[in-house]
Amino acid sequence: MHCLRFLCRLLGKGRHHHRDHDQDNPNAVILQLPLDLLLLITDQLALHDKFLLSHTCKTLRQVTCQDWAIEVSRLSFEDQIGFWAGLAYSLPNRWACLKCCQLHPIDTSDVPRAYWAISARDVPCTVDMSRGVEIEAYSVQHYHVQFALKLSRLGNIHRRYLKALMKPYTCTRKSPIPPLAESYTAEPRIINKRFILREEWKFRNNTSSAIPIFPDEHDLFPSVCPHMDMLYGGPARSRFRKESSIRQMGMRQLEEHVLLKEVTLLEEGIASACESPGQWIFNSCLHCATDIAVMISTDEREGTIRAWHDFGIEGSPMDISWKAHVRDQHAYWLDLGPYLDYPHGSIRELWLEGASHGTGTGQSTLRSVFKKPIDGLSKV
Ligand SMILES: [Zn+2]
Ligand SMILES: [Zn+2]
Repeated sequence: MHCLRFLCRLLGKGRHHHRDHDQDNPNAVILQLPLDLLLLITDQLALHDKFLLSHTCKTLRQVTCQDWAIEVSRLSFEDQIGFWAGLAYSLPNRWACLKCCQLHPIDTSDVPRAYWAISARDVPCTVDMSRGVEIEAYSVQHYHVQFALKLSRLGNIHRRYLKALMKPYTCTRKSPIPPLAESYTAEPRIINKRFILREEWKFRNNTSSAIPIFPDEHDLFPSVCPHMDMLYGGPARSRFRKESSIRQMGMRQLEEHVLLKEVTLLEEGIASACESPGQWIFNSCLHCATDIAVMISTDEREGTIRAWHDFGIEGSPMDISWKAHVRDQHAYWLDLGPYLDYPHGSIRELWLEGASHGTGTGQSTLRSVFKKPIDGLSKV
């Protein structure tokens, strides 16, 4: 509760100012309400709002008087995180840490592109292994999302940090498979008060040699989200290995079929793109808010994988809109967690509003193949 005492002191400084203000304006409308009516109103407030209200003036402090340390310790873990996240919403220099269950101060050098520095920092709270894009040295954390949304909402503080948080990132490199070349781009945007990240991986063959743009011999391919990644090797090999692992689980045939479809969306997308050069193949994760699109150019010299992630609105790191994107390090790789209900394709549409993206046929094809076994399973 050290953090809470610190906050009380911090807010207490402002309180003296407000106390004077209160004395100067004893006719403030809210203070004219009968006490029982005022209590009816404050009883409706979340604990973090009561905490902040209690530090605005002497009278309201008396109305909302509580032992905050005891009140907070009585909350469930999830509600305690909600309390800190609620306070962080109002405090521009703080963020709520899920691992320490308290607030931490802002560090304006901590941005998604500084992943390697952040992950090596000497604090008890390590970063969330979100989506596996850490291999790209670019990793959006929950507090990045929260600071970006909060500073964007406030509009008048830490402008430079907000700009750094929202800066697109590009990395171009030689592929481990010559003569292929690779590039990775990440671009965050705030749309409708939601934090949306678009990622793009490009694979190019800049020579006259005819080699597959998505070769099967190497572990090359991106982890698009915790639920869409390759299990060793390229698409065909990865699919084969996943199928073999699922067979060993002794499930019913329908369940095997559903699980294989679920864990091979990326492989299926790439396979469909290879069959139809020049056409975007669309799909969406069933477990986190991520839309994907895959295309091979008509000359088959360039392959593109795009992902659009919706990290949600301002809130707690316990919210499913964030948690769904975080890899559970302890879970078995075939345990993909709960299904997430969101309109598939909506994140891409939100991003591309007004822009033309072609009319890929893959989305409807893959979806219909996929939906039937899911519907079937729910009736079993
Ligand atoms: Zn922490
Ligand atoms: Zn996912």
